[in-house]
Amino acid sequence: MTQILEKAAQARNTKLNKVENTKALKSPMDVYDKLDEIAAGGYEKLAAEDSAYFLKCFGLFDKGEDFMLRVRIPAGQLNYEQAVCIGEVAQKYGNDYIDLTTRMQVELRYLKIENIAKVLRELKTVGISTFQTGVDNPRNIVTDPLDGIAYDNVIPTKPIIDALQEVFGENPEWISVLPRKFNTGILGSLSNSCNIFGHDCCFVLAQKEGIFGFNVYLGARVGMQAQDANLFVTISEVPLFFKSLLSVFKTYGYRDNRNKNRLVYLLNDVGMDAFIQGVKSEAACDFTSAGATLVQSQSIALGSNKVLGRDGTFAYKLIVPSGIFSGSHMIDVAHAAKTFAQGELRLTYDQNVYIPSITKEALEGFESAPVVKHYAAYNNLYFSDMIACAGTATCSFGVIPNKPDAIEMAHFLSSEVAIPNASVRMNWSACPKGCGVHGIADIGFEGCIAKDAEGKKVDGVHIFVGGKITREAKEAHTLHKALPITEAKHHVKYLLQTYATHKLRGETYEMFDDRFLSRNYSFQALAFFTKINYVLHEKLGLDVTLELESEPKSSRREEYELFGFGLKLYKLLTGEKRFESVVELSPNMLKPTSIKRDTVSKLNPKVPLKLSEILYNMTHENKKERVAVFSELLVALKEIA
Ligand code: SF4
Repeated sequence: MTQILEKAAQARNTKLNKVENTKALKSPMDVYDKLDEIAAGGYEKLAAEDSAYFLKCFGLFDKGEDFMLRVRIPAGQLNYEQAVCIGEVAQKYGNDYIDLTTRMQVELRYLKIENIAKVLRELKTVGISTFQTGVDNPRNIVTDPLDGIAYDNVIPTKPIIDALQEVFGENPEWISVLPRKFNTGILGSLSNSCNIFGHDCCFVLAQKEGIFGFNVYLGARVGMQAQDANLFVTISEVPLFFKSLLSVFKTYGYRDNRNKNRLVYLLNDVGMDAFIQGVKSEAACDFTSAGATLVQSQSIALGSNKVLGRDGTFAYKLIVPSGIFSGSHMIDVAHAAKTFAQGELRLTYDQNVYIPSITKEALEGFESAPVVKHYAAYNNLYFSDMIACAGTATCSFGVIPNKPDAIEMAHFLSSEVAIPNASVRMNWSACPKGCGVHGIADIGFEGCIAKDAEGKKVDGVHIFVGGKITREAKEAHTLHKALPITEAKHHVKYLLQTYATHKLRGETYEMFDDRFLSRNYSFQALAFFTKINYVLHEKLGLDVTLELESEPKSSRREEYELFGFGLKLYKLLTGEKRFESVVELSPNMLKPTSIKRDTVSKLNPKVPLKLSEILYNMTHENKKERVAVFSELLVALKEIA
């Protein structure tokens, strides 16, 4: 089997990419050892290759006039001293700014070059490393933020993560030796609280023959969830499997085109079976085939920011909008955690912070702490599961500001559609690279340039819907392309109003989408549904709403959906029935009623001619004369000023 891997690697590794040539220039550890010198030399003496590559091996990203520092926080777990230290470093050197990220770690910004060595040293005093948080390295390992605490946690994974860290962490043999970055997640809980199918290597809680362990899924990247490797590993086998997997990727991974050299490309070329055989032979261990994957739910804390743990204490989720945090608040939260609990903080995949181990008696005091009260304002549906990547403020790839846009939309939706005991995952990426994991969101946003009604370029988003992370991993589907953000929020509002109207008790948006939206309606119909309501309400100021039925007869057949919507809209806008009755796609009359293109406008003068024509085309008595696809109507709706 290794011949297949060798052949694939040979075919792709004859001409190395530029980054590989840079990597060959020197050892990353030589650069690390000279950090004081680099800091003292300032920007004038900074070597191009250090700025472009080697410093990133230690989390230092040159932003032109200052540095961003990515700090590794395995499993997202910080003790009191570590949290305070990070906070103080941010205060002293980084404009008191901290970003919480989806890899359950933090990024400090605005660090002056003269301080970079000092900062790394200060973090090291409390056992915090920034090694291997950038470029071609095994990145921070994520897990359930309530690992070892929650009722649904079957296997505590932190000890396993520590063992994996020992394989590669700060180990020169594993610094910068992979062809590309390598993300890992390990989940020992029933609820998927860390996008567990979204990493290069995913260990997912499973059971086989009465033994709990992990099924392995491999090869996720932006826009693609990990594939089932049909492999089960026990707790003790995880480090061996992981090390062997890294070795195979290191040896056979592609080093030519950087756009196509994540693990998935090798997997796709050689096939999962051959790849796994390669890992087995590297490990000299015949791992068994997959058991039953046990991930079952999205969150055990539906609609609540306090979760009772197994030991009878609470974990409190501090909601940090878009993950925009500060050193001062990190310190304040650490103090509150120490005063009312045990001083521990748990960073989450959705850019928030859990404070565990708060007794029932201490809860009131904790919630009275000023910093906790400050963030309590965001304890609602739209902020609690929101994710937003850096955006234009701090990332050169960003197309839109993003974090402020996400916050603005969450405020808007909070005021428009309050839904108790609900959960909706809204994820924002400011560019197609997708760091905000919009592709697996219930409702995802990808930043782009859009045009407003006057044709002027404005900040916009592509909207995605229907991503799945529970029971199955599924990428979201495009609902609308390039909508101005000012318009997009209304489209989302109509989806959420439907959720509010038809939601069952305790039903998450993901479950609702499965049971109601995706099951009953095509994506094209949903796109028309949000667009027509936007036009009716926001453009024309009409108090008329097209509602979605719970059991439509159209059964996701586009021409039936289109005709059905047309009949409903005709009735809503004219007060009259378009036909006495219909059977499937045809009016059930000897002589079906004909209308003219301007009939709806004549019956209701508030309806512009263009919309009248659209309804004429949707409901024509002769189905051959009817528009058959929603895409045509969406284009026509754009013309309504
Ligand atoms: S998605 Fe784009 S803008 Fe956002 S952090 Fe990633 S690269 Fe930057």
